[in-house]
Amino acid sequence: MDEIKIFCPASVANMSCGFDVLGFCLSPVGDEMVIRKTNSPGVKITKIEGQDLPLDVKKNVAGIAAEALLKEHPTQTGFEIEIYKNIKAGSGIGSSAASAAGAVFGINELLNKPFTATELITFAMEGEALASGAAHADNVAPVLMGGITLVRTVDPVDVIKLPTPNELTAVILHPKIELKTLHAREIIKKNVTMEKAIKQWGNLGAFVSALFNEDYDLISRSLKDEIVEPMRSLLIPEFDSLKKASIDAGALGFGISGSGPSVFALTKGKDTAHKVSKVINQIISSIGIDFEIHISEINKHGIKILPN
Ligand code: ADP
Repeated sequence: MDEIKIFCPASVANMSCGFDVLGFCLSPVGDEMVIRKTNSPGVKITKIEGQDLPLDVKKNVAGIAAEALLKEHPTQTGFEIEIYKNIKAGSGIGSSAASAAGAVFGINELLNKPFTATELITFAMEGEALASGAAHADNVAPVLMGGITLVRTVDPVDVIKLPTPNELTAVILHPKIELKTLHAREIIKKNVTMEKAIKQWGNLGAFVSALFNEDYDLISRSLKDEIVEPMRSLLIPEFDSLKKASIDAGALGFGISGSGPSVFALTKGKDTAHKVSKVINQIISSIGIDFEIHISEINKHGIKILPN
């Protein structure tokens, strides 16, 4: 194989009780990438469509991640990358992660898969470090492994793929406002009280157990964020009313996707997801902000190879 075309899905990190550790992969939203072998060693980004992002491999997360992989697998073969962006950078649904994960997935396939998923996560994280200043795996892990993942540690990378209850459905709202990841990080207090920490790890443990048992009531009771949401939600317009209306419409829980401004609700089944989408639409339309809403199954497979 000399060329590969892939779909690189968006993803939701944090999932309320799992700040910096939980994430899940979305189905309908994602970028496409074409990666092909060339005769001149090294990585080149030859085309980016859909968004204004740097072609310079040192400034693009796809280039950084690809170079991290090739450092561990020196070869005379070169790689050309084309990126077709649909996920807006800075929207909070893993735009940079899709490119970083896509680059290492595609090159690994073209090299006949010398690396494991865990190793690919390590390379993709180097790209993520460029985007947000810190190496984190909570978006690249679900994109590379599919489904819902838990990052136990990043050094060394130790990621667990969790089960996905069949009817679990996500509603994503992307209000098109600018929210700098850096600002969203700055607003978080550095210390956590023992009382809040106990509530958070109680909820995280319960949430993981609920996924194994397909216990939707327990998913609902444990999808809570005691630590980050109270501060970050202040940066998102109408957060409290969106959350209340979603829960009233039957959502299991509602929270911030990544560092925002996107927010997500989880529901049991598509019908409830449509009801939640409707109430969210009404609230956000009334304040005159441009927005997009997506209803998505949890994507159990992650990156998909497309026919050329
Ligand atoms: P998101 O949470 O939507 O992924 P991030 O804040 O993680 O957004 O990443 C966006 C940042 O990464 C922007 O500063 C963007 O310029 C930079 N970036 C570099 N390469 C890419 C790429 N291939 N795709 C998206 N963002 C990129």
